[in-house]
Amino acid sequence: MSFNTLGLKAELLRAIKAQGYTTPTPVQAQAIPAILKGGDMLAGAQTGTGKTAAFTLPMLQRLSEASTETTSKRKRPVRALVLTPTRELAAQVAESTQNYGQHLSLKSTVVFGGVNIKPQIDKLRQGVDIIVATPGRLLDHATQKTVDLSQVEILVLDEADRMLDMGFINDIKKILALLPAKRQNLLFSATYSSEIKRLAQQLLHEPTLIEVARQNTATETVTQLVHPVDRARKRELLTHIIKAGEWKQVLVFTRTKHSANRLSKQLEESGITATAIHGNKSQAQRTKALKSFKANDIRVMVATDIAARGLDIDQLPHVVNFELPNVAEDYVHRIGRTGRAGNEGEAVSLVCVDELKLLSGIEKLINREISKEIIAGFAPDPSIKAEAIPNGRNNTGGKQQGRRPTQARPRNAAPKQRNQSQRKQPQRGKNDNSGRSRVSSPSDKNVQIYQASDGLGIQVDPPRTSSEVNGNSIHYQPKETRRPEQRKSVNKKTREVPSLFGG
Ligand code: AMP
Repeated sequence: MSFNTLGLKAELLRAIKAQGYTTPTPVQAQAIPAILKGGDMLAGAQTGTGKTAAFTLPMLQRLSEASTETTSKRKRPVRALVLTPTRELAAQVAESTQNYGQHLSLKSTVVFGGVNIKPQIDKLRQGVDIIVATPGRLLDHATQKTVDLSQVEILVLDEADRMLDMGFINDIKKILALLPAKRQNLLFSATYSSEIKRLAQQLLHEPTLIEVARQNTATETVTQLVHPVDRARKRELLTHIIKAGEWKQVLVFTRTKHSANRLSKQLEESGITATAIHGNKSQAQRTKALKSFKANDIRVMVATDIAARGLDIDQLPHVVNFELPNVAEDYVHRIGRTGRAGNEGEAVSLVCVDELKLLSGIEKLINREISKEIIAGFAPDPSIKAEAIPNGRNNTGGKQQGRRPTQARPRNAAPKQRNQSQRKQPQRGKNDNSGRSRVSSPSDKNVQIYQASDGLGIQVDPPRTSSEVNGNSIHYQPKETRRPEQRKSVNKKTREVPSLFGG
C-alpha cells in the first residue's frame, strides 16, 4: 500500500514524501479515500495512529479542489474548522496542516487561549481557509465577531472524547450553531462512550465508519522497568541513569508543578540541561520549552500529567516516572508518550517505599507485573518505612519523615478557581462521575463500531486477557517482552527482586 493509490494530488504527495512517510497507516488508508468523497465520518483512532494526517490531507485536497476565487477583493472565508481539546494538540494539528499544505495556496491559522488574542485577530482579519482551534478561545472570537464561521464546509472534531471529558460539550454546541447546516463532519475519537454516540447521532449524517485495527497498546510496545530506590535518592539516581546511559532526550514526570520546577533546577545544577512544563507556565513558555526539547537543545523536560497531554514528540526514546501518578490510568498515558508510531520506547519508574501501593494499582490495571531492577549503589534502605504521599509537595526531596500529609483534592471535587490565563486548561476528571472509565487511549480501544438498527453501536472484541475497568474491557499482553539490547548498559544488578524494600 502506498500513498499514491489514495487519490491524493501531487502537491500533497510531495509534502508527504518530505515528511519521510512511505506507507499510509491503517487509519490513513481507510479515511483518506472516504473523506475525499465528501461524506461524514466517524473514526475510532487514538493519538499515535497517524490520525492527524488522515483528516488533514483529504481536507486540504478538498479545499484546494473547490478553491474560492483568491484573486477577488473579498476576504477568504473560513472553509474548514478543526476543534481540538488542548492548546498543544491545536498547535500540532496546525503545524501538520501547514506542513502538508506547503505546496498549496491555502491559508491556515491556529487559535487557542492563554496567549494574546490580538495577533490572532490580525491573522483572522487577513482571511484564512482553515482554523484549528480550542473551543473556548474560538467562542471568544465569535463573541467579538472577529471570526465568521458561516461558510465552513468541513468540520473536524479531533479527540472528541477528550473534549467531552474536559467539559467542552456546551462550547461545541454553541460553535455548531454558528456553522452552516450543510457541511462535511468528521468525528475522531479514541473511545465510544454513550456521550460520543449521542454526539455522533446528532452531528453526523450517514457517516462512513472507520475502525482501525487495534494498535498495540503502549503497555505492549513500550519496555517498562521499575528501579526501586529510596525517596531521598531519586534525583541522584535519575542523574546517574541519564548520564550513564547517555540519554539525550528524556521526558520526566512528576506529580506536582512544584516538584517539576525543583527537579528541573536540580538537574541543571548537576549539569543536565532541563526545563519544566506545567499549567503555571504561560503558553509562550510552554511552547518555547517544547520547541527546545524537540530540537534536542534541552535534554530533559520535566512535566506534570496535565501539561504532557497531547504532546507529540517524534521518536521520544525515554520516559521516566520520577514519581508515580496518583491515578493508575495516568501511568498508561505517560508511557504512551514514548514508543509512538511503531518506534521503540522505554519507560522507567523510580519507585520508593511510599509508592508501592500505587505501583501495585498500576500493575493491576495493566494486568502484568513490571520488571524490577536495582541499580548498583542505589539499593533501598530497608529501615526506611513508608510514608503517606502528601499529595505531591516535596515528597521526594529528602528525609521528610514526620511531615504531615496534606489532603488530596477528591477527583470529583469542583475544580479550583482558575485565573483567566488558565481558562480552558485541560482539566482532568471533570466528567468522571459519569460512571464510565477514564481509561481512554490506549487501553479501551478494542472496539468495533457497527451500524445498529437504532443507530451506532459498539462491540467489544473478545479479549485475549482482559480486566474489567468500570465496565470497559482492557487488553494487554500477559508478559512483558523486554529487549535487553534496547538499553544502554547502566551498571546495575539485573536480577528480578521479589521483595523490593527488605520485606
Ligand atoms: P498522530 O496519530 O496524528 O498524532 O500521529 C502520530 C505520529 O505518527 C506523528 O509523529 C506523525 O508524524 C507520524 N506519522 C503519521 N503518519 C505517518 C506515516 N504514514 N508514516 C510514518 N509516520 C507517520
